[in-house]
Amino acid sequence: MSANLKAYAELKAQLPAGTTLVAVSKFQPNEAIESLYAAGHRDFGENRVQELAAKAAVLPKDIRWHMIGRIQTNKIREFAPFVHLVHSVDRVDVLTVLQKEALRAGRTIDILLQVHIAQEETKAGFSPAEVLGLCAVNVLHGYPNLRVVGLMGMASLTEDRDQIRSEFARLASLYRAAQEQLGVGQITVLSMGMSGDYDLALAEGGNHIRVGSLLFGARN
Ligand SMILES: *Cc1c(COP(=O)(O)O)cnc(C)c1O
Repeated sequence: MSANLKAYAELKAQLPAGTTLVAVSKFQPNEAIESLYAAGHRDFGENRVQELAAKAAVLPKDIRWHMIGRIQTNKIREFAPFVHLVHSVDRVDVLTVLQKEALRAGRTIDILLQVHIAQEETKAGFSPAEVLGLCAVNVLHGYPNLRVVGLMGMASLTEDRDQIRSEFARLASLYRAAQEQLGVGQITVLSMGMSGDYDLALAEGGNHIRVGSLLFGARN
């Protein structure tokens, strides 16, 4: 089972320089990942810890693994030693345990604060006000082994593209506010956009898009 290499090439050709494509490989077999790897791709995203750890154990070591799913604190130890970027830090408990496990693993972990921008209550994330509170420099000093490098968000599940775009625009403006507080050198990642809405995310300044089904086909 191969990834859709034609869709991959077409997508890559549309991305502005400096954009990172995170290929979301959740529920996909290792062969699909290997086919994109063979095409030169290195950034892959997973949303379940067990699957992430199992894949990382057997796939090439130079893959950059992005954790993008809801995090249970008792599972953090399984990915802390090797994860490249954690997109889905959505509550203070996760910060606390990630700090502990990063220290234990003897490394610094790059993280994004997930922001609740959708209308549904079910989507996780900090409120914009909470994000600004966390970006007050002194607060982050409490997590010396974590480096907040940006923000992540998911738009509402809706057909209304104007609404999706306005949610991305709100996240982008919060991103600029975070840059003002922590510095443009530190806050460099704006992770938004999936298969159905990455074009809107790019238009609003997103520089990490997380695309699954467009590259791999529908998930089972
Ligand atoms: C599954 C998932 C994606 C990718 O979704 P597609 O619609 O398949 O592109 C992106 N981000 C998160 C957080 C996801 O869980």
